[in-house]
Amino acid sequence: MDEDLFKGITLDDLKMPGGWSVSPGQTHLYTPRERELMLRARAFAQQELLPRAPEAHKQVTEIKAGYQGKERRECLREIAKWYLKTLAEAGMSGSLYPEAYGGSGAGVVAECIIDEELATAGHPGESIRSVSLVLGTVSILRYGTEAQKKRHIPPRLAGEELSALAITEPQIGSDTSRMQTRAVLKGDRWVLNGQKRFCTGGGLADYVTLFAITDSSAHPHKGMSCFIVPMDHPGVTIRRQHPQGKPPGPPQRRLPPADG
Ligand SMILES: Cc1cc2nc3c(=O)[nH]c(=O)nc-3n(C[C@H](O)[C@H](O)[C@H](O)COP(=O)(O)OP(=O)(O)OC[C@H]3O[C@@H](n4cnc5c(N)ncnc54)[C@H](O)[C@@H]3O)c2cc1C
Repeated sequence: MDEDLFKGITLDDLKMPGGWSVSPGQTHLYTPRERELMLRARAFAQQELLPRAPEAHKQVTEIKAGYQGKERRECLREIAKWYLKTLAEAGMSGSLYPEAYGGSGAGVVAECIIDEELATAGHPGESIRSVSLVLGTVSILRYGTEAQKKRHIPPRLAGEELSALAITEPQIGSDTSRMQTRAVLKGDRWVLNGQKRFCTGGGLADYVTLFAITDSSAHPHKGMSCFIVPMDHPGVTIRRQHPQGKPPGPPQRRLPPADG
């Protein structure tokens, strides 16, 4: 075993509550700055998020059981927004985005390091963070206009606006070339028609980043465009939420049959 791989890393650095650990083989690839970020993110996840995760899960379960419609949406949004604001204040969000839009500009590796560390705390806000700040927003950074970037990225990083991603459809999964949703320009407005599914966090989002075919004569991958769709726009309907699974109970022990 190459001892240099473990240089500067103590076992204490790798300890995680509940027995998680990062392999030394992984951390040795980090630069000193990335390693420092990892330890900072880990300390934040353990001290600020982990102790609050059980209570947040309890709240989510109670809200889902006791509230419907707008009230339920607002209560769940509050939890997601608290999570995003807490991360923003701690400098734990926005690695993918330049400082001009409220990010840190730290880059993809920093984002992955932070993702990995935050996920270990198991806070329910984490799934909304990944869809709102990554899936629902990177397309705006890459392909959006300057006005769209300024309008949407800073409030999302600050936890004031929630987004989600809408690509998958009832008839299409990985194969987006068969996408059915169409967008047609009528006057100065785009009219969209279609159905999306598996839109994680779509029920809580202010906007979804939605892909639709705009040029049927081109190959779908070339004739596809991306829209920022407000969820409160007339005509947008959420037909069904994912069925709520039963919360995980204690493991069931399977007994052998009585006759042996
Ligand atoms: C928990 C969860 C959250 C999701 N959140 C979102 C979301 O927020 N927004 C969104 O738009 N979508 C979301 N999705 C959808 C996801 O991104 C995939 O598009 C979808 O799950 C895949 O479609 P499918 O289930 O119809 O499988 P299919 O695409 O039909 O694939 C079926 C099987 O075929 C395999 N396969 C597919 N294509 C090929 C190929 N070319 N070569 C070889 N094998 C192949 C696949 O690996 C798979 O095993 C989510 C899915 C899940 C499970």
